[in-house]
Amino acid sequence: MAAYRVVEWQHAPELVEVPVPAVGPGQVLVEVAGCGLCHSDLTMTAMPGEVGEALGWQVPFTLGHETAGTVVEVGAGVTATSVGATVALASPSSCGTCAHCRAGRDSACLHGDAGRGYGRDGGLARYVLAGSVRDLLPLRGLDPRHAGPLTDAGATTHHAVRRARSELGPGSVAVVIGVGGLGALAVQILRATTEARIVAVEVDPARRELAVALGADEALEGLARGQGADLAAPGFDGVDAVIDIVGTDRTIRAGLGALRRGGAFVLVGAGGGGFARPWMGGLPREATITSIQGSSIADAQAVIDLAAAGAVTVAVDEFPLAEVAVAYTALDTGTLTGRAVVIP
Ligand SMILES: [Zn+2]
Ligand SMILES: [Zn+2]
Repeated sequence: MAAYRVVEWQHAPELVEVPVPAVGPGQVLVEVAGCGLCHSDLTMTAMPGEVGEALGWQVPFTLGHETAGTVVEVGAGVTATSVGATVALASPSSCGTCAHCRAGRDSACLHGDAGRGYGRDGGLARYVLAGSVRDLLPLRGLDPRHAGPLTDAGATTHHAVRRARSELGPGSVAVVIGVGGLGALAVQILRATTEARIVAVEVDPARRELAVALGADEALEGLARGQGADLAAPGFDGVDAVIDIVGTDRTIRAGLGALRRGGAFVLVGAGGGGFARPWMGGLPREATITSIQGSSIADAQAVIDLAAAGAVTVAVDEFPLAEVAVAYTALDTGTLTGRAVVIP
């Protein structure tokens, strides 16, 4: 079968022929219907070998960690699924037995640094292997060609909203900074799962319009005074939660400036920004700051269920596997209109 693989550290990935994986006991073979592309794939392609090896990654490996498809073969002992089931594959790798997995923090698994599409063979191929039924997420009737992005972009965003949800009761205000792919999901998940008033913050006017169409109550250009409603005004204690999809010094400072005492700041974006705590200012008193990396399996299933109920949609741009390199270029240069999905 054809597979799009990192064949050597810091070299462009290649479309090569590889054998269809053999199915061992407890494993499940899935025919890929669609695999989403993620910005982190570009980082992996450029990764120095010593970094990859420190994570336990092995080259060559097939890219793709946002995968969905149909079960075509099950290994000995597998009873929880059967041939013909449509499933998505959990994006974070998790063992199911360490303390973090037992607590439901699957993306913090002590054995999860390497997984499908990052150091092991992923979904940019005709077939992909699931190591255990733990990784399978029933699609509840969703189209498997377009469900892949829910497992990473969708699940990560659900995770972020979940971590702020205790602050988002009736009358509360949630701010989403950055309305690209994840921000658009954050607005929809906030709308579907909280009672908060939703304020989207986004510099691009077309994306501000999109945010309102997806359920934001208001879309602002920025959080500073004069950029719309004055959320940072003196006398207003602040908003209840901020979900920062960007994560630069600028967005972190603006988000913390808008947050009330005891509020929740949830950092999703890896924009390289930092937190400072001078004697006065800086961090709000008693705030909770949560760093998000990936999601639990429950987050992935929850966002799939929301999508199956019609509460969350992901716009996708389809590409055939033969054009996967073109799709990555479009991702890299920002010319996609939706999430890129490769249909093998
Ligand atoms: Zn990703
Ligand atoms: Zn674990």
